[in-house]
Amino acid sequence: MFNLLEECKGAGRIGISGHIRPDGDCVGAVLGLYLYLKKALPQAVVRVLMEKPPETFAYLGGFDEIVTDFPEEQPFDVFFVLDTGADRIGGAESYFREAEKRINVDHHLRTEGSGDVNYLDPAVGSTCELVYNLIGEEHLDRDIAMALYTGIIHDTGVFQYSNTTPETMRKGARLIGYDIGFPRLIQETFYQKTYLQTQIMGRALMESIRFLDGKCIVSAVDKKTMAFYNVGPKDLDGIVNQLKNIEGIECAIFMYQTDVLEYKVSLRSTERVNVAQVAGFFGGGGHARAAGCTMRGTFHDCVNNLSLHIERQLATNDAALPGGTK
Ligand code: 5GP
Ligand code: MN
Repeated sequence: MFNLLEECKGAGRIGISGHIRPDGDCVGAVLGLYLYLKKALPQAVVRVLMEKPPETFAYLGGFDEIVTDFPEEQPFDVFFVLDTGADRIGGAESYFREAEKRINVDHHLRTEGSGDVNYLDPAVGSTCELVYNLIGEEHLDRDIAMALYTGIIHDTGVFQYSNTTPETMRKGARLIGYDIGFPRLIQETFYQKTYLQTQIMGRALMESIRFLDGKCIVSAVDKKTMAFYNVGPKDLDGIVNQLKNIEGIECAIFMYQTDVLEYKVSLRSTERVNVAQVAGFFGGGGHARAAGCTMRGTFHDCVNNLSLHIERQLATNDAALPGGTK
């Protein structure tokens, strides 16, 4: 881990960005770092430039200051990319490339960082935990705590997924000490859905299909259906997790159509399938139990291609794991 203030020493202009289609961890990490740097370096201009995050995160300090239209900017002395590498930051990529010093903080499975300075740890459940380490406990305040707590609950499924460690819980304990109103924060950003989001989820669940002896499940939503329910990609969050909750399922696939013969694919799995590897095969990535990619072809083409890789992994991993069938 590097020293945050040391790396920003003398910087007049600091920029921060995160991945496209920002999720709770991405928004929390970006705003947590932003709030801290503004406080710690009052002389510096600190800017957040990223794709517009969902309005459910509007309660976070600094949310209204996020610049979402990628205007022309003076070059940055330091530019941070959080929760991804430089390849998934959309319009912010040029700021990153042109910055004097580039810093990359991420917890996704990747072989190398995009920055001149990197803090990568795929063993840690959320980028917010990495930002927490960088800031240091003694510098937390209520607004920073809300941002970091939001990211931690989103990427650990409210301290449920296997990426939750004793250290995650210790951080969570410390953060709720800042009177952040955590029950409401969890309910309103993690569990709550609009009526239409719930309806389209219901439909996706109803139309799901099991295959590979009931170990795999897939559901897809096309553009027409999304238009009918008046929903966008962000409204489909949570469907894949719901599919994964079904008894006997080792790998769940949810796909939504992005174009003619093009789908965005979300994958969730048990320890029997490494979906980061599966997604990686199709140019995507993520974590062992949660990953994604974009695929071209018909629904059936995509499922057939994914199925091949999943089946191979099931065959290999089944033998190696406790309770395996071979
Ligand atoms: P989700 O299914 O929730 O969109 O994403 C699950 C995980 O996979 C997240 O950590 C996300 O960053 C990663 N992920 C999703 N889609 C892609 C993709 O197209 N490329 C890469 N590299 N990672 C992805
Ligand atoms: Mn994350």
